[in-house]
Amino acid sequence: MNATLSSLPGTSDLVLKGGRVIDPATGTDGILDVAVAAGKITAVGPDLPVPAGATRLDLSGAIVTPGLIDTHAHIYEHVTGDFGLNADLVGVRGGVTTVVDQGGPSALTFGGFKQFIVEPSQSRVLCFISSYLAGGLLGHRYVDLYGPTGINVAAIVKTARQYPDLIKGIEAHAEPGGFSRWGLESLKLGKKAGRELGLPLYVHLGTLWPQKEGSDVNPREIIEQVVPLLDAGDVLAHPFTRYPSGFVGADGAIHPLIFEALAKGVTIDVGRGAHFSFDNARAVIDAGILPTTLGADLHGYNIKYPNGGRWYRGMFTDTDDVVPAEDKADEDAALPFSTPYGLHHAMSELMALGVTLPQVVAMATSNAAKLLRMQDTIGALKPGMDADISVFRILKGEWTLRDSNGKQVIAKQLLHPDSVVRAGKVIGTDSPLLPDLAQLAA
Ligand SMILES: [Zn+2]
Repeated sequence: MNATLSSLPGTSDLVLKGGRVIDPATGTDGILDVAVAAGKITAVGPDLPVPAGATRLDLSGAIVTPGLIDTHAHIYEHVTGDFGLNADLVGVRGGVTTVVDQGGPSALTFGGFKQFIVEPSQSRVLCFISSYLAGGLLGHRYVDLYGPTGINVAAIVKTARQYPDLIKGIEAHAEPGGFSRWGLESLKLGKKAGRELGLPLYVHLGTLWPQKEGSDVNPREIIEQVVPLLDAGDVLAHPFTRYPSGFVGADGAIHPLIFEALAKGVTIDVGRGAHFSFDNARAVIDAGILPTTLGADLHGYNIKYPNGGRWYRGMFTDTDDVVPAEDKADEDAALPFSTPYGLHHAMSELMALGVTLPQVVAMATSNAAKLLRMQDTIGALKPGMDADISVFRILKGEWTLRDSNGKQVIAKQLLHPDSVVRAGKVIGTDSPLLPDLAQLAA
């Protein structure tokens, strides 16, 4: 009798033995083996044979999941200055097999993204293309580049049609700084492109730019105008932001339109970033809202050395020299977060708030694959799927998790990456962006 849950014929070249396999897409959670051949998953089941010549990975005590998908990263290295991190440091070397750049590449700069980021990376690299012709240069620092005159819908549509395997949606903003200048005109153009393409719009909430002098935008008004524009499959991002976003009010109440948005199929991405607030996360989760996906929103401005220096300072162009002091975001100096973090860390933070391991795994695997409309290729451990697999461990103990307000929560467990299988190849996780465990020990 074949006890294998499911299998393809043929000989495996890699077998992951004895880990706890959590695969929300198939409802699997148990001590099982996973077999791989020629870059594809061939079997998932107990006691799978390891053929002569195949690599055996003994993973007892480890968690084995479909390759984790980070739905929000900034990896357009060099072109976006020290904002863009190296894709593989965020990706495979950080325990993540698929990395989605949010709004870095644009219709004008997409060719470079494909040639210099997508192609040389071991990680699977995808993107939500920027609404703006400029793309996310220096993290959108020069606000005047991002008005409606800096958007060309036809250019977005043409580029996205040219690269459907790489461009999975469109990134736009709905935040007080832009709103004070142009209302939602920029976002409406991004949405227009999305409608033409049938692709989702990813909407950044929470302050990004300073407001136009003399304006005083009520972020609730932004939510009231943006929700009616959205369709099923569009994404509201940064629900936990400590900045005024309208998602969570100053009183901790969730804007009632958020529930309407969810009811019509709009999804929510964590977009952890440099503005994560435990208090707001608790308010959202206590209101019964579970994020759909879990982008870590790593970028060069929120990975800082313990001494406060930026990760990439001086590595490329010294962009500090070209940015006038008054244009620098004040958070840059004030940001209390000083240790590296990553997708596993963002998962641990949600678990510290009561979200379960299978739920956070679903956010980073099956739900993310659905957002990318790639659920037939990645995000599940089924025979025939690409062999993108993440292996991580649960470190028990007492860990101090710090949010961007400096608030601390003690966690009893911390997820920490061990290795990945990407396109069938085993890669160890040695990214220097990963958290320093000694610093997190409570
Ligand atoms: Zn971001």
